[in-house]
Amino acid sequence: MPRKPDTSIIGKVFNDLRVEELTDERNSYGRLLYRCTCLLCRKTRMATKSNLIRGEVKNCGNHPVYTDISNRTFGKLTALYAIDKKQEKAEEKYGIADVNAEKNVMCHMEV
Ligand SMILES: [Zn+2]
Repeated sequence: MPRKPDTSIIGKVFNDLRVEELTDERNSYGRLLYRCTCLLCRKTRMATKSNLIRGEVKNCGNHPVYTDISNRTFGKLTALYAIDKKQEKAEEKYGIADVNAEKNVMCHMEV
């Protein structure tokens, strides 16, 4: 007997994907696919529930993987979290360092 499809994750956000709806499409293992929106670029990505929960699918797949250096200290800068380069306003308040190859990193300046 097929298990009842789980709709409890609809509307939830997993990494950079927001779950929009359960579709009747299945992947090659017969698992139901959810239609998700990539919060970084608004593209649609299909993923199973376990893909989302286990973090196997984090966004639409078009964004470069970057090394997470959060909480690491570089000289007087402590990396807080990666940001989009567009967040220029934050620069006034915090130091922003390009220590990561693909992404800028919000840093905390030790004074
Ligand atoms: Zn995307």
